[in-house]
Order: sequence, then structure tokens, then C-alpha cells
Amino acid sequence: MSSDKPAALVIGAGIAGIQAALDIADAGFQVYLVEREPSVGGRMSQLDKTFPTLDCSSCILTPKMVDVGQHPRIELMTYSEVEQVEGEAGAFHVTVRKKPRYVIEDRCRGCGDCAEACRMHGRVIDTFNQGLNKRAAPYVPFPQAVPLIYTIDPTACLYLTLGHCGKTFKCKDACPSDAIDFEQQAQLIDLEVATVIVATGFDLIDPHVKPEFGYGVYPNVMTGLEFERLSSASGPTAGKILLDGKEPQEVVFIHCVGSRDPHSGVPYCSRICCMYTAKHAHLVRDRLPNARITVFYIDMRAFGKGYEEFYDRVKRERVIYRRGEPSEVFKRGDKLVVRAEDTLLQRTVEVETDLVVLATAVVPRADAGDVAGLLGLERSPDGFFQEAHPKHRPVDSNREGVFLAGCCQGPKDIPDTVAQAKAAAASAMVILADAARAGA
Ligand SMILES: Cc1cc2nc3c(=O)[nH]c(=O)nc-3n(C[C@H](O)[C@H](O)[C@H](O)COP(=O)(O)OP(=O)(O)OC[C@H]3O[C@@H](n4cnc5c(N)ncnc54)[C@H](O)[C@@H]3O)c2cc1C
Ligand code: SF4
Ligand code: SF4
Repeated sequence: MSSDKPAALVIGAGIAGIQAALDIADAGFQVYLVEREPSVGGRMSQLDKTFPTLDCSSCILTPKMVDVGQHPRIELMTYSEVEQVEGEAGAFHVTVRKKPRYVIEDRCRGCGDCAEACRMHGRVIDTFNQGLNKRAAPYVPFPQAVPLIYTIDPTACLYLTLGHCGKTFKCKDACPSDAIDFEQQAQLIDLEVATVIVATGFDLIDPHVKPEFGYGVYPNVMTGLEFERLSSASGPTAGKILLDGKEPQEVVFIHCVGSRDPHSGVPYCSRICCMYTAKHAHLVRDRLPNARITVFYIDMRAFGKGYEEFYDRVKRERVIYRRGEPSEVFKRGDKLVVRAEDTLLQRTVEVETDLVVLATAVVPRADAGDVAGLLGLERSPDGFFQEAHPKHRPVDSNREGVFLAGCCQGPKDIPDTVAQAKAAAASAMVILADAARAGA
């Protein structure tokens, strides 16, 4: 695929990729926005409120998602991955692999009848909701998905995994648009682009690296992202903080789970967890006015605009901040107990609780090495993509014409992600403008 005007490729459609794509397209250039999941949105689509202003995440994100879906100069390629990149700044040849959804895109109306009828309905772990509920094999990750087209999960569909699914296909029979097509194959699409922005985001460390906190052993030990879905108005409990149908009376948050800990392989600070934990503590106070809330921290890092003020507000909301690193979470009767060394009191304390929330470290995407290999990118010792120079070339990669935006370069909050995406878009547009002049 090539267009008359020079085009940009943006890899990853979280808030960074979405913002960069919109800026470039609004300036008059063509953009190919490649996202490997069935919908754009990234991690921000999993958030409910955002610190420090407590803006609703979807109120900011959803209009931008709709804009990238409808923009005349953005070609959205969801459920797709970049397979090859050759060439140089001004003339990259790219191959994109579009995975089969097993649903014909221009027929699907997003009604969900296939999911309702599916034999696996209510039996497939819903990864968007962090496993807090179950869905069917045909799915959209969340109701505001862009595009609103169902995808049949090839790891969960009985036909796609076992080769049979009863006497008839219940999903196919239910579809009013005859959109389901199990013959669909992956497609390879060639693109010509002048510049590339990498915006592939981040993962969170597997909490099992800290077995002393009992994740996976006690169901009421969860990660911050799980808590985000539990407390979200669009989550499985419609925002009610419930454990087995009951409201917790005592909640403990633990900062720096994996972060700043060379033994976990994450010596750096994840930058966002102090603040999102403050937000979570505020949400608990808001929903459960009588709950006892304790936060264990090493040092509090509230570095951004309005952050210290937000932290002060949360402390005034009767949230107990205890300086200390917990050593263990264990069960005593019906309660969990968090044991920690309180470094201000200089003694060991035990806090009984109904729920423990772990602020797990931000880490590079599991396949960051593959993406680096594909694009010839260098990575810094922490595993994130390396910027050419932190001071005067903070969004350039080591490869000319390839730029970095958002958490793929290192942990950061949404304001910094958006600022970096805008900077990457501006740098990419210099190459696009050069290419346009050369082609004129
Ligand atoms: C629990 C939690 C709460 C948070 N709360 C807040 C908050 O209140 N306020 C705030 O400012 N920040 C908050 N953050 C931080 C915020 O989530 C990030 O700043 C933001 O999501 C970073 O966006 P991104 O686009 O860089 O990455 P991501 O959101 O990770 O998006 C990257 C996108 O790239 C796609 N992708 C990855 N690899 C590929 C590939 N190879 N090919 C194609 N696509 C690919 C992914 O599927 C994804 O859609 C929170 C984070 C967490 C974990
Ligand atoms: S083939 Fe069976 S398991 Fe697969 S989507 Fe259809 S009904 Fe569900
Ligand atoms: S039933 Fe058909 S039209 Fe409705 S969501 Fe499923 S595939 Fe799309």
C-alpha cells in the first residue's frame, strides 16, 4: 500500500500512539496506525479515574479513539503486527501481518449475538478485566472498543483449538450478518513510509517474583491493575469494591513491588505507582467511608504538577501512610496480616486486612527484544528502548527516522506520555516534510 503523500507508521495504539497519529494526520500527512490487540486504547482504556485530577480516563481517551477510527488520513490496522522493516529514513518498506479475526470486518455490527450464543460463553478468562470475570470466545475487549468488531479468540474457541464445536456452529447460527468466517487467513500488507514512531508501551512485573506477598495463594491479594478494574465503573462489579460479594473493611496497599529492587531485576523507580496508589486509596475512601486504609511506602515520590497536593489531600482523607517495607503477607483466621518493619517507629508492625493491593513494577514489554531486533533499536540497561540522548534528542532512537513515544522508552504517567508523543510526532513531521519536498 502506498499513498501519493509521504506517510508515517505508528506502532502501538495506546494513548502515545493515538496522540502521535492524530497530530501527524491533522498536519496533513497519511498515518498507518498498527495495533496488535483487537482495539486501540492500550492501558489507559483499563483505567477508571486518573491522578491527580481524578478525570475520568475514558472521557479523555474515548473521543481520541473515535477520532483515530474516523480520521480520513489514518489507516487503522488493529489485530495486526509489523513483521519486517527495511530501508532508511524517508523510505522504509514495511510488512504488516493482519491476523484473522474469523469475523468479516465490514459485515460485523458489533451486536455480540455470537458471544451470547457461544458454547464457551462465561468460560474464557477476560484478560482486559485482569481475570476478574469470564467472557466468550468471540469478544470485544471493552464496550467502547474501536473498531467495534468482534474477534474470535483462537486460544479459546473450541473449533479453532480442537477442530470441532458440537453439531452446528452456535456463533455462526446466531450472527444476523453472516459475518463469521472460519476460513479467514492472515494477510501480509506492504507499506511504504518515510518515518516510524514506536509506541508499544509497557508490561507489569509478574507479582509471583515476590512470593512473600502471597499473590496467587490468597485471592484477596491483587495487583494495582486488577484493583483498577475492580474499582472501575465499567468493570465487572460496576465499580463496587467487593470481595466474594462483601465490602472489605480494611485495605493495605504496598508500594514498590519489584521496583527499586535489584533482586527482582528492576533497580529503577516505576514512577507511577506512588501516585496511582494514592488514587486507589482515595477511591476506597470514596466508596467505603469507614474502611481502614494503610499504605506501606519506602519514600513517597510525588514529583509532577499537582501531585504533592493530591498526596496531601489523600492523607487528609484518613489514609494511614506507614514508612516501611513489608516482609510478609500471611493468613490469620479470616484475615490477612501484613508484617513490616516500620522504619520511622523502628519496630515490626502487623496490620490485619481484608485486601492487599500490590503496586507492581513497570517493566518493558515481554517482546521488546523482538521489536528492537525488527527495527534495529538499542535498549538501555533497564530493557526499555534507548533514546539517542536524554537531554537534546529524547524522542529520537538510535536509528534515523525512528522515534520513541510513551512507556516503551521508560515508565511515565499520562501527561508525560502525551507530551512525548507530541514531540515524537513533531520530529517525525520534519522527515515527512522533507520527503514531501523531495517528492514535489
Ligand atoms: C494500575 C495503573 C494505574 C495508572 N493510573 C494512572 C493515572 O491515574 N494517571 C496517569 O497519568 N497515569 C496512570 N497510569 C500510567 C498510564 O497507564 C501510562 O502512562 C499510559 O498507559 C502509557 O501509554 P502508552 O501508550 O505509552 O502505553 P500502553 O498503554 O501500554 O499502550 C501501548 C500499545 O501498544 C500496543 N502494542 C504493544 N506491542 C505492540 C506491537 N509489537 N505491535 C503493535 N502494537 C503493540 C499495545 O497493545 C498497546 O495498545 C497507570 C498505570 C497503571 C499500571
Ligand atoms: S465455534 Fe464454538 S467455541 Fe468457537 S466461537 Fe463458535 S460457538 Fe464459540
Ligand atoms: S453476531 Fe455477527 S454481527 Fe454480531 S457481533 Fe458477532 S460477528 Fe458481529
